[in-house]
Amino acid sequence: MYKILETKELAASIYYMVVEAKRVAKACKPGQFVIVRAADDAERIPLTICDYDREKGTITIVFQVVGAGTQMMASLKAGDSFHDFVGPLGCPSEFVSEDLEMLKQKKMLFVAGGVGTAPVYPQVKWLHKRGIDADVIVGAKTKDLLILEEEMKAVAGNLYITTDDGSYGRSGMVTQTISDLVGEGKHYDVCVAIGPMIMMKFVCKLTKELNLPTIVSLNPIMVDGTGMCGACRVTVGGKVKFACVDGPEFDGHQVNFDEAMQRQQIYKTEEGRAFLKAKE
Ligand code: NAD
Repeated sequence: MYKILETKELAASIYYMVVEAKRVAKACKPGQFVIVRAADDAERIPLTICDYDREKGTITIVFQVVGAGTQMMASLKAGDSFHDFVGPLGCPSEFVSEDLEMLKQKKMLFVAGGVGTAPVYPQVKWLHKRGIDADVIVGAKTKDLLILEEEMKAVAGNLYITTDDGSYGRSGMVTQTISDLVGEGKHYDVCVAIGPMIMMKFVCKLTKELNLPTIVSLNPIMVDGTGMCGACRVTVGGKVKFACVDGPEFDGHQVNFDEAMQRQQIYKTEEGRAFLKAKE
């Protein structure tokens, strides 16, 4: 059993939990994910790791209630336990294995959208710990939905907050801020974009025009997370890949987003039905 040490609601329906999972904490790297189950008969939920503490043996997860499984997770309190907490799964972010001196020469831009801010955080923190300060754009629909601002501020080189409705920070979507920064003369060698599929699609459309290589994380299309169900099948550069075992990170300019989003819609409908059934 994996004990929950701390839990809080970061924003409406977005939860933060620190969980005791010594073996996962010992081995995990930025970019990897875990699969959790609140109870024996609960749905499997793949979640990108938000933070880890090797000494304390803890993993931090952030999730949004979108269906029956995440609703059950949200009902858990500190002192309760997860039935399963499997990981670390998937491939770590590519830069983790790059030569550090080469990496220091690169100017990196991270683009985080909504709940996707959680998986961006450990990557920026990993770089910061090694003396590399990346620029970070965090986008949220409104000020109330912005998460992890202080945490991100502590590890980012420059942090740019943007809200769709202009209620905080800059006004508009993350793509607007990318254009503005580049327009102001900022140069980036690589962009990492993590957030809703629609955001990653449009960030990639823009960065392709800007000739800026972009990595995306396809965690949102995962269902099973072990390569068994095939739900996260995605075409990358004309080849079929599984987000869970070949990813979750891919070259965003090679991803067929429309196909991946169509498949994601099918599973969302299933998840929605399960949610309504559980509420009856
Ligand atoms: P959201 O809808 O609030 O969007 C967040 C930001 O993305 C917006 O503020 C905007 O700046 C940007 N965005 C949205 N649509 C855009 C568009 N068409 N063009 C340009 N930018 C756009 O996000 P949310 O509700 O927090 O997102 C939840 C989604 O994030 C879920 O689908 C979840 O699966 C996904 N998610 C992804 C990951 C990952 O690893 N990729 C991790 C956690 C959550």
